[in-house]
Amino acid sequence: MAPRSRSLKTLEAKLVRCRACERLVEWREQVARDKRAAYAGEEYWGRPVPGFGDPAAKMLIVGLAPAAHGANRTGRMFTGDRSGDWLFRALHETGFANQAAATARGDGLQLRGAWVTSMVKCAPPDNKPSTVERDTCISWATAELRLLPTAKVVVALGGFGWDGALRVLATHGHKLPRKPKFSHGAEVEIGPYTLLGCFHPSQQNTFTKRLTRPMLRGVFARAAELVR
Ligand code: SF4
Repeated sequence: MAPRSRSLKTLEAKLVRCRACERLVEWREQVARDKRAAYAGEEYWGRPVPGFGDPAAKMLIVGLAPAAHGANRTGRMFTGDRSGDWLFRALHETGFANQAAATARGDGLQLRGAWVTSMVKCAPPDNKPSTVERDTCISWATAELRLLPTAKVVVALGGFGWDGALRVLATHGHKLPRKPKFSHGAEVEIGPYTLLGCFHPSQQNTFTKRLTRPMLRGVFARAAELVR
């Protein structure tokens, strides 16, 4: 295994044992015990969900947190839920993924030049981590970015991912421009990185057509232009 992959695996092994946030530990484990009826026969992951993808990624995608019955069930970010259906289809269409489907670890999905992660690593109730939980968890994403030295573009899914990415980049010592505001298609240069804003592919956004498939694909097409 290449040294970078080994370091990411070491970080992952530490992350999955994290129990720093009492409320989130209780919630992720309760959801894993109670389960949704449709998944009653499955064993839920019920732990912090690590990022995944290509260790030589040039593009990093940052979401909010694992979904209770999505990544908290499958153990892989955006896997097994509707947001992931949209995300991986767009990544496949723009050449960052070998397939559009993401149903479970071991489904054959491989990312090329992309790494998918979240600002908070445990599923929060109502998808709303507290400020303290957000601040407690940020060290994991900060460590992750350090182990992805080829990343040049950061795609932030939603305002939470945007603010989190700004904080992580500031922690890495990069000077931020004044008040870089989140919007879909926003593009900001920060040190060696380009930060791109993208509406989160949540059902709230896709059902209302606030985010359409061409809009999502457009952000990754722009990211592809920037990295290739
Ligand atoms: Fe640990 Fe982050 Fe999960 Fe809190 S949210 S328990 S810091 S992994």
